[in-house]
Amino acid sequence: MLNTHFERDADLFEEPIRVSRMTTVDNRFEINCSICNQLFYTDIDSIAQINRAVELGFDNPFVCDGCAENYEMLSHSR
Ligand SMILES: [Zn+2]
Repeated sequence: MLNTHFERDADLFEEPIRVSRMTTVDNRFEINCSICNQLFYTDIDSIAQINRAVELGFDNPFVCDGCAENYEMLSHSR
């Protein structure tokens, strides 16, 4: 299990992180958007993915939909 981390680095940010605005049965873990810092809730798989990224020395890779859209617009308008 451990030695798969590095091979999977490239995938780390491509798996969609499932979030909701409020806690649900699955989404019980708090997560903040790394850009706007709004609070969302996510499931155990996604929080594990974030924690893994942070352990590897990355910043919180979660960006909410709103910020992701803005970011896309910014990168296209250059
Ligand atoms: Zn955001």
